[in-house]
Amino acid sequence: MKLPKLRELKEAITALIKGPYTSRFPKEPHKPHPNFRGQPKFNDQKCVGCLACEEVCPVGAIAHKDVLDGPHGGSYRVMIHYTDTCIFCGQCEAACISDHQGIKLSNDWELSFFNRKRESYETIEKELERCEICGEVIACRDHLHWIAEKIGELTYSSPTLYLSRLKSLKIVDANIISALKDQGRSDRVKILCARCRRETTLTTK
Ligand code: SF4
Ligand code: SF4
Repeated sequence: MKLPKLRELKEAITALIKGPYTSRFPKEPHKPHPNFRGQPKFNDQKCVGCLACEEVCPVGAIAHKDVLDGPHGGSYRVMIHYTDTCIFCGQCEAACISDHQGIKLSNDWELSFFNRKRESYETIEKELERCEICGEVIACRDHLHWIAEKIGELTYSSPTLYLSRLKSLKIVDANIISALKDQGRSDRVKILCARCRRETTLTTK
């Protein structure tokens, strides 16, 4: 009979005392290492819909779609993360302007799915702010608030920024703003895109 080597004997005795090195997956759930780089996840509360992560993603695993006048009347941006394209590099998290919290690598490693078309992506929705004259998309409302927080009292030099804020706080009603429709100098006090802002500023009416 061949005698076991000393190292194997030691490992067998250690495993008897401390338990086996391997896990009992799939009977028991696998616990990944704390530094494991798993699937990135959007955080709906922190993401402001700025698209910086989409810009830096090296493989195009992040995309967006702007839905104008959606089924419930509002306009919103759908942020999409494609699990089947992602290489888990973490560039999105590193570039996220929202304190790196808008999208974060998770320890989610179990990514198999049956229906690639339906299950290979995750989405969140962010409300859009649009120009009150031409309807052009300006930015996500949360992004405008993020800018307002950054620039502090300078916010009051931009009607778009402070009106957006007042709308969210329900101090100003969207219909009241839209009632000022004479396309003249009074239109300056509206949520406007850069082109309409320039035109209303230059108008002499
Ligand atoms: S982890 Fe890398 S590949 Fe995946 S979405 Fe983020 S930037 Fe793109
Ligand atoms: S806030 Fe972060 S996660 Fe959201 S769109 Fe901007 S960079 Fe991406």
